[in-house]
Amino acid sequence: MKHIRFLLLSLCLFLCACRPESRTSSEFVLGTVCTLTVYGRSGGEPFRAVFARLRELEDIFSANREGTDLDLVNRNAGIMPIRVRPEFILVLEKALDYAELSGGAFDPALGPLVKLWGIGGDNPHLPEAAGLAAVLAGLKGVNRERDIEIDREASTVFLRIPGMMLDLGAIAKGFAADQAALILEKAGIKAAVIDLGGNILAYGKKPFPGLFRRPGGKNAWRIGIQDPRDTRGSYIGVLETPEKSVVTSGVYERYFTEGGKRYHHILSTETGYPVENGLLSVTVVAKHSIDADALSTAVFALGWEKGSALLEKAGAEGIFIFENGSVRISGGLRESFSLAENSDYFDLQETN
Ligand code: FAD
Ligand code: MG
Repeated sequence: MKHIRFLLLSLCLFLCACRPESRTSSEFVLGTVCTLTVYGRSGGEPFRAVFARLRELEDIFSANREGTDLDLVNRNAGIMPIRVRPEFILVLEKALDYAELSGGAFDPALGPLVKLWGIGGDNPHLPEAAGLAAVLAGLKGVNRERDIEIDREASTVFLRIPGMMLDLGAIAKGFAADQAALILEKAGIKAAVIDLGGNILAYGKKPFPGLFRRPGGKNAWRIGIQDPRDTRGSYIGVLETPEKSVVTSGVYERYFTEGGKRYHHILSTETGYPVENGLLSVTVVAKHSIDADALSTAVFALGWEKGSALLEKAGAEGIFIFENGSVRISGGLRESFSLAENSDYFDLQETN
């Protein structure tokens, strides 16, 4: 008996010793709760540096505050070019690439439409048909190549048409996650999870190898994929992945209900209304978070067929969750994603 107790105690001590040391901190920034977990020994400095950088990026990209680079560019539409910080140009150019790649379904010049709906703000509402038609006509009159003037040397951006407005909310959090990873790398951190309100970047190699080999490699991270019909924190399944960014766009992130109907925040550049294509969410897995973030929104807006073609073109992978409970997983994730046992969802490819 004594021997068994001794063995059990030794096993517990062994397992505790195997547990990686980690430190976690959260702050409300970028309009959401941002959480950083660093594995291994680390002081407070990487945390201070990351959160300071996130606040700096909010000063550049926020559409909700006056005086940000984005706000100044928008206010001066049709008036004059505005000097912006280099990262503003970098993110805007990337957003314009995705606008091109998605055939305009992803559009950084969608600001007037986003403002009209006000989803996520204090007064979200169903816009009047005439107002919506006017905004949509204005948007369709924009030629992004001609009307968004970027001068890299002078570091300025000029929106040529009065009333034009940029919105980089679908891509800036991804850039912010990549920036956080750069800071961690410079600080010599080997493993961390950067979670900017569900926009996740698993950085480095997970330190706990685990006793069994896992599909994503023995140092794979395990990332829960949010159930879009449930509140935050309940998962439809788990993805095992090496160092990657995992970003989800879904109907549950930001929405309001009017007349018994739910209106979510990913807007169709064709109709001006929230996209309705049978999807509840799209999770994109890519190397860089800026790509995963832009792609999650673009692919959601495009729907399954065009969206999965875009993912393939971009060299990224995705998990599509539909209103009827079905799930489609792109080829590269088939080995590494598993639906939770007793899940209400079913894998469409497996049942085909
Ligand atoms: P994503 O799918 O990544 O993006 C959806 C968002 O992109 C929409 O909310 C809209 O803004 C825009 N969008 C909609 N349709 C399209 C389309 N077809 N093409 C391109 N873009 C589209 N929220 C607050 O409530 N208060 C804040 O103060 C605040 N500050 C922020 C500051 C920064 C720097 C950033 C990056 C975000 C901030 N946010 C804030 C959150 C922001 O308003 C968006 O809601 C958020 O970025 C959406 O991210 P997501 O990952 O949920 O969805
Ligand atoms: Mg996005």
